[in-house]
Amino acid sequence: MGLSKEQERNIVENVIRLEDIALLWNDNCKMKNPERVKQIFNEFVMGGPDRLQVVSDFDYTITKQRKSDGSPVLSSFGILNACESLPTKFIEESNNLHNKYRPIEIDPHLPMDEKVQCMIEWWTKTGELLVGFKLEQSEIDAVASKYKDSLRDNSHKLFDTLNRLNIPVLVFSAGLGNSVISVLKQANVMYPNVSVISNFLQYKNGLLDGFQKPMIHSFNKNETALDRHKYYDLVHNRDHIIVMGDSLGDADMANGVPASSHIIKIGFLYDHAEESLEKYMNTFDIVLIDDQTMNVPLALLEAVEKKEAVRNI
Ligand SMILES: [Mg+2]
Repeated sequence: MGLSKEQERNIVENVIRLEDIALLWNDNCKMKNPERVKQIFNEFVMGGPDRLQVVSDFDYTITKQRKSDGSPVLSSFGILNACESLPTKFIEESNNLHNKYRPIEIDPHLPMDEKVQCMIEWWTKTGELLVGFKLEQSEIDAVASKYKDSLRDNSHKLFDTLNRLNIPVLVFSAGLGNSVISVLKQANVMYPNVSVISNFLQYKNGLLDGFQKPMIHSFNKNETALDRHKYYDLVHNRDHIIVMGDSLGDADMANGVPASSHIIKIGFLYDHAEESLEKYMNTFDIVLIDDQTMNVPLALLEAVEKKEAVRNI
């Protein structure tokens, strides 16, 4: 049975309200403009799952920024570096590059154009190091299997819900796609609604030959990298978008969508939390400080699902 607009509005206002999502009002959850979030959230709930899509970063967004037992979480490139058949020289030089460029990547004070230049250097040099030796996917899988439990708490519930509601998920990663897919598969969340756009290893005559093009680094994860990608055909009509990331550049991941789209950007903040908070709040609609769960995006989706259930009565 169809509901009138007024009945629908009553449902949103009386049954599903942003105010009732307690997590959003915790001390570690910051919203610069809660009214705006409320308005878009209501659009999401009214629009239902058919208009929704999720675009998410991978490293430290789908995976945790810190684990409660203190054990480290390897990034997708970290998983590559832990493969034993890589020559020692590669590891050393790759670590040197990391030590040089990672502080630049997360520096809250450097201008964006300088950061971009440095990220291009970092990815290019890493690609140049990955030439001329053997590395099987099975070895990446073996290392990745140790990190399949590093996903944020309730990630399984989140991916299950997204799959059940047929909501497309784009995992958009400037990391290494070979590791990303391996971790997602081994964690049993690589559902048919999940796509991965990332950097993938290239092979020539059975030996490594750098990365496939185009290069995706921390700050070009936007329409430039997605241009003409088949993924956009799949989702161009889904104008309600949840974007999730842990780096400021992640907020631009959905820049290529039509201007009329409604987007809620969720930022996970951990490094330099105090210094970076203002920038994060200016960039993301919802900022979660040291939240190692998927509870907030899950709560938003559960509201959409709850409304669907009411609509279908
Ligand atoms: Mg990340």
